Amino acid sequence: MGGSTGNTLYGCSNCQNPLAHSEDLLSKDFVVNSGQAYMFAHAMNITLGHEEDKQLLTGLYTICFISCNNCGQELGWKYIRAYDATQKFKAGKFILEKAKIVEESC
Ligand SMILES: [Zn+2]
Repeated sequence: MGGSTGNTLYGCSNCQNPLAHSEDLLSKDFVVNSGQAYMFAHAMNITLGHEEDKQLLTGLYTICFISCNNCGQELGWKYIRAYDATQKFKAGKFILEKAKIVEESC
């Protein structure tokens, strides 16, 4: 990392709909049940699904599944609430599965 010359945008792997900016990328080291994922502070052009409680690798959360608002591909989820006090910083953050997004320079 470092020496970046421009903004990178992360888009839907299916339709290239822009979903998040690299400046909002918080972590690339997220591991979810399906593989690697990125955590973002903000995401755009997404559709929020219904909220549900889900047991994840690091504890129990209330999450909301998110999908592309253009093609409908499922992308990951948004953390609504963490039950574990040490994980509360994740509330309001977005998880996008690496396999579902592509890097686009802009
Ligand atoms: Zn899409």
